[in-house]
Amino acid sequence: MTYTIIYDKDHCTAAHRCMGVQPKLWGVDGEKKAILRGGQLNPRTGKYERLIEEAELAAFKESALICPAYVIDIVDTDTGKSVLNLKPTKKEEKESVPVIKAHYDSRKEWAMDPKGFFTIKPFYEEQLIRMRYYGEDHALKFLIEGKSAEEIYNTVVRENLVSTFQHAAYVGCELMKAEIAMKKNLPYVQDDPLP
Ligand code: SF4
Repeated sequence: MTYTIIYDKDHCTAAHRCMGVQPKLWGVDGEKKAILRGGQLNPRTGKYERLIEEAELAAFKESALICPAYVIDIVDTDTGKSVLNLKPTKKEEKESVPVIKAHYDSRKEWAMDPKGFFTIKPFYEEQLIRMRYYGEDHALKFLIEGKSAEEIYNTVVRENLVSTFQHAAYVGCELMKAEIAMKKNLPYVQDDPLP
């Protein structure tokens, strides 16, 4: 059996997930967009295509399913149908999985991380975010600085500075708010919504 990889490069958001999991299949161009290795531009559709064998299907599926922009599809060459279930409609989503209504009561549900806490501040002129890490004894232990939420929260994880999922999620969320505020020149106050 053969399959056609169809890659819509115009709508690639350069999130780099595909090449992260399958670097042999995906490269990167000067605009940081993904390149389908061995792919050919189809001038009719404007998308890149590559014919693959069954043996390569699993690796391509992994990179397609991890793409947050849904720009990689895999089509069965015989039937012309996609072998992925990309972009299910709202109706299909509702019918196939239970819906959990999100809720949160910070007074009851927030739990202090025994490993400590952080304060976060963007520095607009330098385009840097600085984050102070206070340990379990409430003493300042580290100053972490970086240009993006992503590089800072990955440093936090690498240095093992959080011990609960809730705290890790909070740190990622606050850092992203700080990055948006810094880039858009908006005021940032930790724990408050952006204006
Ligand atoms: S994962 Fe998708 S959006 Fe991200 S670089 Fe690859 S193709 Fe582009």
